[in-house]
Amino acid sequence: MSKNSWIDISVPLSNSMHGWPGNPPTFVTMHLGTGKGDVCNVSAINFNSHTGTHMDAPLHFLHGAKTMDDLPWDAVIGECRVVEIKDKTAITPAELKKLKPKKGERLLFKTRNSAKSWKKPEFDKDFVYISKEGAQYLVDCGVQTVGVDYLSVGGFYKDGIETHHVLLGAEMWIIEGLDLSKVKPGKYDLICLPIKFHKGDGAPSRCLIRPR
Ligand SMILES: [Zn+2]
Repeated sequence: MSKNSWIDISVPLSNSMHGWPGNPPTFVTMHLGTGKGDVCNVSAINFNSHTGTHMDAPLHFLHGAKTMDDLPWDAVIGECRVVEIKDKTAITPAELKKLKPKKGERLLFKTRNSAKSWKKPEFDKDFVYISKEGAQYLVDCGVQTVGVDYLSVGGFYKDGIETHHVLLGAEMWIIEGLDLSKVKPGKYDLICLPIKFHKGDGAPSRCLIRPR
């Protein structure tokens, strides 16, 4: 990887991508195709607001809260830090304390999910998540934006609702569904641009980082 080159940390949108159980799955079909004699290629895409690499707005869990329209660009454009989490279950205050999160920081968490969860044939319920205590610790540190390397900041079995409530209640901006398998811990420039979904509770996003 050459220095100063952008790394795409988004996952591709396709029929075989992982999706949250119960949410509408992604369907991509060919509406028009030059292979079948049409004059052009046009795909029909069905997906939901939390598909693949995406952002959560406070509205995702909190009735009447801020929407994707309220996203400040500073939350998703600027310096970020990729940190490696060794815990194989959850991101907890014990490990976060050692990483010394700073006020206003954009933090992306690389866990075993990047190497393991995305490579499974189906949705991995056993992914590493942010515990509700870890979420509160990030809020107390004044972190601006968090990014995680699977489909939810909260766990499938534990703290799914609680962690979202703590982070979104503090209006922290959340990026979910990153693939950090090709990324080393360190400082990067971040650009994450969600699609312009009016009053969205979340939105699929393209996310790039570049070593600083
Ligand atoms: Zn989400």
